[in-house]
Amino acid sequence: MLNIILCGAPGSGKGTQSAFLAEKYGLQHLSTGDALRGEVKSGSELGKKIEAQIAAGNLVPDDMMYGVIEHYIEQLPKDSKGMIFDGYPRTVAQAESLTELLKKYHMEAIMIDLMVDEHLLTDRLLERGKISGRADDNLETIRHRIAVYHDQTEPVAGYYLHQGNYFVINGNRSVEEVSIQLEKVIDLATR
Ligand code: ADP
Ligand code: MG
Repeated sequence: MLNIILCGAPGSGKGTQSAFLAEKYGLQHLSTGDALRGEVKSGSELGKKIEAQIAAGNLVPDDMMYGVIEHYIEQLPKDSKGMIFDGYPRTVAQAESLTELLKKYHMEAIMIDLMVDEHLLTDRLLERGKISGRADDNLETIRHRIAVYHDQTEPVAGYYLHQGNYFVINGNRSVEEVSIQLEKVIDLATR
């Protein structure tokens, strides 16, 4: 089984590259952002709480996330080749609970970090905002999300570095070039 945790700032290309990896390796793609936005759309009580957090550019609380992830793992097809975690974990606490959760299901994962310069992140997200219709793809919220990333998500890299399954990729390059780098890293990590 190949489980990949794809990390990176908002706009670093996680969604774009997850689609590529899902296709290339036959993996299930779990975008926590998409899952949460789906919950919002459903109009549930949980969805309403989530909506407020997302619109403000904040992270959804860890305990809410845990439920979403476990639910997803439980309903994976039995013959699954593995999954991609896109947008999770975003805090060290979430990384710790993901390690426990994976252990419970006798799984492991490698973490790949997409590093992208800040001005490129902003440009990409503003561009995406023109078509995404996402409430958080505007300059003010983008700045806040990047600050939240530095504050809460960046330390996650140290967590995986410590665990010895940390890989990093220069995400500044074109979509195709980043995909090639990802393939190389996965080759290396699974050899
Ligand atoms: P994330 O899921 O990490 O927030 P996305 O995959 O949604 O990021 O990418 C954000 C935006 O940047 C999208 O509009 C996407 O088309 C674009 N994008 C993604 N990767 C690249 C890249 N390597 N070069 C240029 N634009 C990119
Ligand atoms: Mg995304």
